Amino acid sequence: MKSLSSEMQVFLEYIEQKQLKLTPHRELILETFLKHEGHRSVEDIYRVVRESDPRIGYTTVYRTMKILLACGLARAIDLADGMTRYEHLYNHEHHDHMICMQCGKSIEFYNAEIESIQDSASEQLGFKVLDHKLQIFGLCNECRT
Ligand SMILES: [Zn+2]
Ligand SMILES: [Zn+2]
Ligand SMILES: [Zn+2]
Repeated sequence: MKSLSSEMQVFLEYIEQKQLKLTPHRELILETFLKHEGHRSVEDIYRVVRESDPRIGYTTVYRTMKILLACGLARAIDLADGMTRYEHLYNHEHHDHMICMQCGKSIEFYNAEIESIQDSASEQLGFKVLDHKLQIFGLCNECRT
């Protein structure tokens, strides 16, 4: 028996709990999403899965990405171009984004000081943090000049 990836186990547990089914389409979408790091829209993933199976519909990709979000495998990010993109969340180090409003480039960064300030600001207000996204919008190094 082929051993399941821990991502697949997370996925299976969730869909079982929600009484959904593991269809070959959902499985292919999950595998495609897991294969590459980076920020991808439903469109991007749709284009790639169609190469393996042209019968997969856009709605199936869209709905499956919602499942990946809900079960904690994916994280949604807003790069300010009106399109939601997804990146890996499970087993990945936390990071935030700087987004260039001219060329659309997104830069990943982590700053321990910013993280702890966010925590203490929440704590002071008695707020329990479950997740956060910090997006900084501006111009990248190349676009500023
Ligand atoms: Zn952060
Ligand atoms: Zn730029
Ligand atoms: Zn990222």
